[in-house]
Amino acid sequence: MKNNQTGKIRSVAILGGGPAASTLASLLARENVRVAILHRPRAAALLVGESLVPAIILILRRLGVEDEVRAYGKYKPGAIFNMNEWGDFPFTFRDFCGKMPDYAYNVPRIKFEATLMNCAKNAGVKIFETEAKVERVAGTDKVSLSAETLAACGDYFSGQPDFIVDATGRGRVLPKLLNLPAREGGRKDTALFAHLDKTELYKSGYVHSSRLDHGWSWRIPLQDRVSLGIVIPSEYAANAGSTSEERYDNLLKRDSVLRVVTAGATRLTPVMEYTNYQLVSEKLFGENWALVGDTAGFIDPVFSSGLLIGLTSATELADAIRDGGTAAFQKYERDVIHHLKTWHEIVNYYYNGRMFTSFRVGEMMRKNIFIRASYPHINKHMGRIFTGVAGKAAYSMAMMRFLMKYSLNGEDPNKMAIR
Ligand SMILES: Cc1cc2nc3c(=O)[nH]c(=O)nc-3n(C[C@H](O)[C@H](O)[C@H](O)COP(=O)(O)OP(=O)(O)OC[C@H]3O[C@@H](n4cnc5c(N)ncnc54)[C@H](O)[C@@H]3O)c2cc1C
Repeated sequence: MKNNQTGKIRSVAILGGGPAASTLASLLARENVRVAILHRPRAAALLVGESLVPAIILILRRLGVEDEVRAYGKYKPGAIFNMNEWGDFPFTFRDFCGKMPDYAYNVPRIKFEATLMNCAKNAGVKIFETEAKVERVAGTDKVSLSAETLAACGDYFSGQPDFIVDATGRGRVLPKLLNLPAREGGRKDTALFAHLDKTELYKSGYVHSSRLDHGWSWRIPLQDRVSLGIVIPSEYAANAGSTSEERYDNLLKRDSVLRVVTAGATRLTPVMEYTNYQLVSEKLFGENWALVGDTAGFIDPVFSSGLLIGLTSATELADAIRDGGTAAFQKYERDVIHHLKTWHEIVNYYYNGRMFTSFRVGEMMRKNIFIRASYPHINKHMGRIFTGVAGKAAYSMAMMRFLMKYSLNGEDPNKMAIR
């Protein structure tokens, strides 16, 4: 794994310039690694990934960018889940954050990405605006930059870099080249999203998630507008119109919940459409390469965990590269896959109705003295889903598994499942 001459990885080319790439690049450059980001600039008018969770604040502080993010972000004290006839379930981070920050931000994503990219530049990372192309070194597990991509970097690396990281998000350049195994999740949904001038919001700054006639939707309050996304089984999306805009606008009118919360609202942007967003790669590194961020795997957006998982994987990969040994990369692979799989499990409890059936039963049974006594403890651990820490907290996960299995008190979870 280590570079033969020096025993250290001294130069790294990162493919892609999203949040995971910039975070990794900043951390490596601060360790005096020679780093370049090979980035194909985006053309999209807006991007998903606008709602952050408290656990990410620690990474923003480590990068030294929290003040900048605060200036354009909307302060986010919690999240509210609306489950129709079963009511609203508000979660305030302060109630279960422990030593973690008790807030997060909702961010205009393009600005957020620019903040992280500038952080990398300031740390000494060189940015090349180019489509990154790689090749397999025949007969090996190694990869190299194509001649064209290497030429785009001039003499920055004096030959090939020691190490190549794929951070191209769903572009997944290396997994496609190397035909790497991956496991897809069960949901086949479509997400349609745009910015509206306003929507109904019950608590300032809280992300609102609503169970719809089919699927669910997010409302993310930004400083001067609201991001509204609809996540819906693909067959329903296809039936709603022939263009993304038509589908989105029709769903706002047709759905019984959206019709109410968007009454009088105006759409300010084009509509973006995403499909297929549950996937975990089974191999995250090779002899001179690794995958990070969404390229390593991505999960459903319902708990706003995507950027947390991506940025956490970037910090963990920085540690592995600094170490350079195979054991460090094996640990990286194990930790990231575990994190992704855990979030898949959490997300499934939302879709199959168990999570909110359990919360509801807990609320109903609070008159019981034993339930009342254990409630704060249970609440603290279950609340970690919303702060983002649950995916890394073994005890909280064990408690969640137990509750999802045994706390439904005979209630049928299918009634609250996402249809
Ligand atoms: C519908 C939806 C809603 C979401 N909402 C949230 C949310 O509210 N909160 C949250 O935390 N997460 C959310 N996510 C997840 C979040 O957006 C991703 O986890 C995050 O963007 C991953 O960052 P990344 O850096 O790994 O990849 P990306 O952000 O995808 O960045 C990859 C970059 O690589 C570039 N690229 C691709 N191919 C090449 C190439 N060949 N050469 C050069 N450059 C290339 C791309 O242009 C892009 O800039 C959501 C995801 C979806 C699908």
